[in-house]
Amino acid sequence: MSILVMKFGGTSVANLSRIKNLQQLVKKKISNGHKKILVVVSAMSGVTNNLVQQYKKIDFNINNPEYDVILSTGEQYSSALISTFLNKNGIKSRSILGWQIPIITDDKFSQARIEKINTEKILKLFKKFNVLVVAGFQGISLEDRITTLGRGGSDTSAVAIAVALKSKICEIYTDVEGIFSSDPRVVKDAKKIENITYEEILEMASLGSKVLHPRSVELAMKYDINIHVRSSFKRKQGSMVVKEENKIEKEVVTGIAASENDANISLKGIPDKPGVAGQIFGILADADINVDMIVQNITDDGKFASITFTVPLDDCKKALKVLRNSKIKFKKISFDTKICKISIVGVGMKSNVGVAKVMFETLAKKNINIKVISTSEIKISVLIESHKKKVALNSLHKAYGLGL
Ligand code: ASP
Ligand code: MG
Repeated sequence: MSILVMKFGGTSVANLSRIKNLQQLVKKKISNGHKKILVVVSAMSGVTNNLVQQYKKIDFNINNPEYDVILSTGEQYSSALISTFLNKNGIKSRSILGWQIPIITDDKFSQARIEKINTEKILKLFKKFNVLVVAGFQGISLEDRITTLGRGGSDTSAVAIAVALKSKICEIYTDVEGIFSSDPRVVKDAKKIENITYEEILEMASLGSKVLHPRSVELAMKYDINIHVRSSFKRKQGSMVVKEENKIEKEVVTGIAASENDANISLKGIPDKPGVAGQIFGILADADINVDMIVQNITDDGKFASITFTVPLDDCKKALKVLRNSKIKFKKISFDTKICKISIVGVGMKSNVGVAKVMFETLAKKNINIKVISTSEIKISVLIESHKKKVALNSLHKAYGLGL
């Protein structure tokens, strides 16, 4: 049985007129020959946030099974509403919740991971219905408690179901046209990327581009299925997330992202001897603080060094506190929260030289000072002052020829 998996995000199911639009998209697929369609839905936009707020009026600890029971109701509601609408409009459909399939997860409440999906029930139901509307974002633990997959997790539900059904593709309908070469609100000529690799999109996600739940991409990569991210409002092709071999044109740089979610901390005058960096980052790790970019300088006399690194903005205060209260000797500690991390991402970097040179020269020409640099095989990130973000993004976008 060939089953098409279509996932709709919160804004695509936000009200009745959007649900009508969903119904038209499904109808079109049916008339194009897709006889069996599995629709995975998010809660209507705003609903989950609202539920979180209600819960937090009583308890801030979200590692509690009741939190998941509450949060999962958003998708219970939207799936049933959509199925009702489809039936009213002549499409034989029913809603189905995570536990009814079942989608078995571990018991990490609020952040559960899918372990197994039983497809038997789905296949059986498809004998009776043409469309199944699955509540995304939820599953059930082996102890029979409802679980949720972490915010944004309905993408992961959709990809996991597509994998279980051995589909080759999972369509994700959203409120943007696809994945862009840079933020279109800042870079006017940013363009839609037709093909992007799993690795590239994972790097972009780590930079705060929130188009897909990262675990959905990891799953798609592991089981080699494509994700088509597309608009539910504009009837055109979106961006296809594919494996590297299938990306024919490997531009050196695929996308340029900016994130303003970091703070940098500098420790000056630390002893230049073995073990100090280990101590510093050990203390931060013990405090559960993620360090991203790091740079170390040594003074001429070889006695002292300084070290600069970035931490998530929300953890800046905590990091300063644990370092100040530690045994580490330093002359001065300082921090800066008005910074921006600009990253260029592209699998083509693996086989091209001079990519970094273009980046540094372009920024220099605009008189933008680089504070910290970090690289991976397919990414170069630099830290700059946040008010230079727009100039940096636009000039780099142009320098790598990414414009329209
Ligand atoms: N409704 C959930 C959330 O807002 C899951 C999702 O939309 O993917 O996080
Ligand atoms: Mg989402």
